[in-house]
Amino acid sequence: MPGLLAQLWGLVLPVGCAGCGTPDESWCASCAQQLIRAPQRCEHRAGRLDLLDGCAPPPVWCATSFTGPVRPAVSAWKDGGRADLQPVFARALAAVVGDPEVTRFVSGSDRLLVVGVPTSGAARRRRGGDPVGELAGAVAAHLRTGGVDARRVAALRRGRDVDSTTLGARARGRRMRVEARPAARRLLGGARVLLVDDVLTTGATVAACRRALEEEGAHLVAGVVLASTPRPGEVVDTGAGRTPGGWSAGPRDVSVESWSRSHPG
Ligand SMILES: [Zn+2]
Repeated sequence: MPGLLAQLWGLVLPVGCAGCGTPDESWCASCAQQLIRAPQRCEHRAGRLDLLDGCAPPPVWCATSFTGPVRPAVSAWKDGGRADLQPVFARALAAVVGDPEVTRFVSGSDRLLVVGVPTSGAARRRRGGDPVGELAGAVAAHLRTGGVDARRVAALRRGRDVDSTTLGARARGRRMRVEARPAARRLLGGARVLLVDDVLTTGATVAACRRALEEEGAHLVAGVVLASTPRPGEVVDTGAGRTPGGWSAGPRDVSVESWSRSHPG
């Protein structure tokens, strides 16, 4: 069901929980538990993020892991017309940037531009909007309430789609075309940028965005995503025992052996 019609459909009809299907609940309390967590650093999970150009990866924080009920929920939100999940995910990302450590990290004397990872024109038409861009707007608004001079700017756009189905992740990252919108170029020179996306997987998308931003003289300070995909064999931290405001700062919960096996060389 395309775009706007699907969104309206989801808003007017009784729905099941997007995570587990519990009837008459948009997002049940049990599934919500997975989003009520302290932010986690997750750039170490994105195996391609620091391999594309040899640079250290930017810090990326996530609200949760892309596991369990979060997977079907993100899919329903992006492609199933479940616009009712937009405020749920916006609150989760607001909680990430509202964490005192994250706020301190992205604060600065200069204005912070909050930029959503761009979707292709085809995806935008299919979804009837730009849900990631709306999340970026929510992030900027929440940062402003915390005293950070933040502004959402739709600074990037995807280039023409290329057929990359036969390419590996690294090659896809090189082929992914992201560029600055001409109207945003004057804002990007020397600007500090916080990048917003829904799911961090290989990191190829973030790397492509970073290249496009740096070409315009901007500096990617950090990224925030709703969820990040665990590495193969990773023991996912369920959040139990984590102190409020703390996060996993590195791959301490990763099975290194399985990572090496699945990523030779
Ligand atoms: Zn549920």
